[in-house]
Amino acid sequence: MLDWLFPRRCLGCGALGGPWCSACDRRAHWLRAPLCAHCGLPSAKQAASCEACRVNHYRFTAARSLALYAAELRHALLAFKRQQNIALAQIFAAKLQLLYQQQAWQADLVLPVPLDAQREAQRGFNQAGLLAEALAEGLALPLPAGALWRKPGAKVQHRLTAAQRWQNLQGTFVADKQAILGTQVLLVDDIMTTGATAQATSLALLEAGAAQVYVLTVGRSLFQDHQTNLVR
Ligand SMILES: [Zn+2]
Ligand SMILES: [Zn+2]
Repeated sequence: MLDWLFPRRCLGCGALGGPWCSACDRRAHWLRAPLCAHCGLPSAKQAASCEACRVNHYRFTAARSLALYAAELRHALLAFKRQQNIALAQIFAAKLQLLYQQQAWQADLVLPVPLDAQREAQRGFNQAGLLAEALAEGLALPLPAGALWRKPGAKVQHRLTAAQRWQNLQGTFVADKQAILGTQVLLVDDIMTTGATAQATSLALLEAGAAQVYVLTVGRSLFQDHQTNLVR
């Protein structure tokens, strides 16, 4: 009945069927070596760090993303912010799990980049949370509730310039020392753009005593200062 009223469609291209079709999967720009070993950006040759790393002084141990945030993948991730699509979360989480297993990372726990409580209440879910839950289940790792949160009232990121984003996020996240001290954290988000969110979250986790912070995202924007439709 629900399928008849709302036929299931690919969130990337609108084709009838599952939430992420094989054509979109083939067309996506999956990120492959050579990459910056630290932040995971594509680079001309395998390197320990890149220009973005040097400019931004990323404090996470390493970051990797599945694919370029463009075209069908961008459509799918934008739709994913508006609809609580567990099936799509599971598809991308399975890919994130494979990506994790290709790294020499030993995470103790998985955490999503949090939304602020008011925004999450309005939306009803956190898309990064859906990904993190599915990934934690796949990796049989804990996802401790309440270990990391976002202070309410930060300005909406997409109205800000890149420099303002970094400023805006300083001190936005707080991590619980009791849950985090001495742990290797696998941080999960849907998109990494400038890395400002990953940086601010990592700083909070390191402040709380995390030993390592690894970052996984589905989409990765190559443009360090462009204005996307990032809705946070
Ligand atoms: Zn499609
Ligand atoms: Zn880099």
